[in-house]
Amino acid sequence: MNPEELITGLSAAQTDGLVCVICGLDYLRSPGSASVPVGRSVTGSQVFACVGRCVEAAPTISRRVGGGRR
Ligand SMILES: [Zn+2]
Repeated sequence: MNPEELITGLSAAQTDGLVCVICGLDYLRSPGSASVPVGRSVTGSQVFACVGRCVEAAPTISRRVGGGRR
């Protein structure tokens, strides 16, 4: 995982790290969800993806997360 990876083409909510950049899950409305920072938006704020499937699905993101801890 490279938390400094620049991720573009995001919605406003994704840019703010409020929703998953892959599946669009709204973290504010999903209290049990686990997410990890997967990069930065063009504004410099961190963006997040769900632990597991979404992190692995992200093409610009390495697959370290989810590989060792489940
Ligand atoms: Zn997701």
